[in-house]
Amino acid sequence: MGVRSIRDTLQKLDQGIDNTSFEPVGDSPRRERRSLSRRKGIPACIANVVTPKGTMPVMKTMLTTACERDCHYCPFRAGRSQTRRMTFQPDELAKAFDELQRRKLVDGLFLSSGIIKGGVATQDRIIDTAEIIRKRYGYRGYIHLKIMPGAERDQIHRSMQLADRVSINLEGPTAERLQALAPKKEFFAEMLGRLLWAGELRREAEGRLASIATQFVVGAVGDTDLELLTMSERLLRQVGLSRTYYSAFTPVPHTPMENIAPTPPRREFRLYQSSFLLRDYSWDVEELPFRHDGNLPLNLDPKQAWAEANLRHTPIELMKAERRQLLRVPAIGPRAVEAILAARQQVRLTELAQLRSLGIRAPERAAPFITLDGRRPPQQAPLFGATD
Ligand code: SF4
Repeated sequence: MGVRSIRDTLQKLDQGIDNTSFEPVGDSPRRERRSLSRRKGIPACIANVVTPKGTMPVMKTMLTTACERDCHYCPFRAGRSQTRRMTFQPDELAKAFDELQRRKLVDGLFLSSGIIKGGVATQDRIIDTAEIIRKRYGYRGYIHLKIMPGAERDQIHRSMQLADRVSINLEGPTAERLQALAPKKEFFAEMLGRLLWAGELRREAEGRLASIATQFVVGAVGDTDLELLTMSERLLRQVGLSRTYYSAFTPVPHTPMENIAPTPPRREFRLYQSSFLLRDYSWDVEELPFRHDGNLPLNLDPKQAWAEANLRHTPIELMKAERRQLLRVPAIGPRAVEAILAARQQVRLTELAQLRSLGIRAPERAAPFITLDGRRPPQQAPLFGATD
């Protein structure tokens, strides 16, 4: 493929696909979005993505922007005349990716697609593309594949062999919410059941298959944080999900949801903080500080809010607490817990300064909720920072 054809392919990719329409696919959605907003001369199909293999420019694209479904929030829905439709053959897309990768413009692929002739036929084309990239071009790097609604078990298995990560996007946390977002998607038969299969396949392979992610569209149809995090917890425990993405709803013109108010980005942020507490800090969903309406307070870090309610009057003794208790303390994350457990075998922890030397960047945030060798450390006024 010569320079001219690469330019043509990039133009085709650029014209057909607005990358901001995609869900984030890496481990840092905010960085990914920032990379999309600061673009000078970078093709729209390329985003800087934090993957388990490092931060890299990833080609995020679709095999086709045509779709026979009509999900209410989606710019690619059937019948939306403002969407430019673009279709690639598996060969064509694989070749373009190979060329871009060899020229070091990208190092990683996220491949999705609109649905044409059903989820099974569409998944076949996604698999074909990944097979060509892996086999014909010998690419060993990062591939993230989307699993289409209704894909068959064998197709999910093959996709998980070819990819580093697969996404099966549930979109709504319950059948009722999904029905309001995407009336033609079947919650269990096409989506949740496929996630459960993917989890089974990964367990059977003892982890030697792609990791699994999902995404929710947040705030368009009355979904609550309690619903979203209850389903997230179920998927974490039952499927072994690596990652849940929360995408704050943004109305797209000329869709049935164009007049619904956008969801505040802060809500998305609180959901991410809470999902990390479930995934990395062994929290249960019941421990999160939901309000009566089932949502989290927007102005409070959930871990801080829990500590204010539960630890201010009954602080944790750092010299004695178990791992799980230590993880409840603001400013103390999993790495800090390990450092504390190791350090207290050697020395008595009596000063906040010692915590700083163990890698805890803001020990004053922990101060109101701990004792050090039986004494409360000096305290400042409560702060509400990020979850740690
Ligand atoms: S199936 Fe996917 S691409 Fe098609 S309308 Fe729904 S969300 Fe959009």
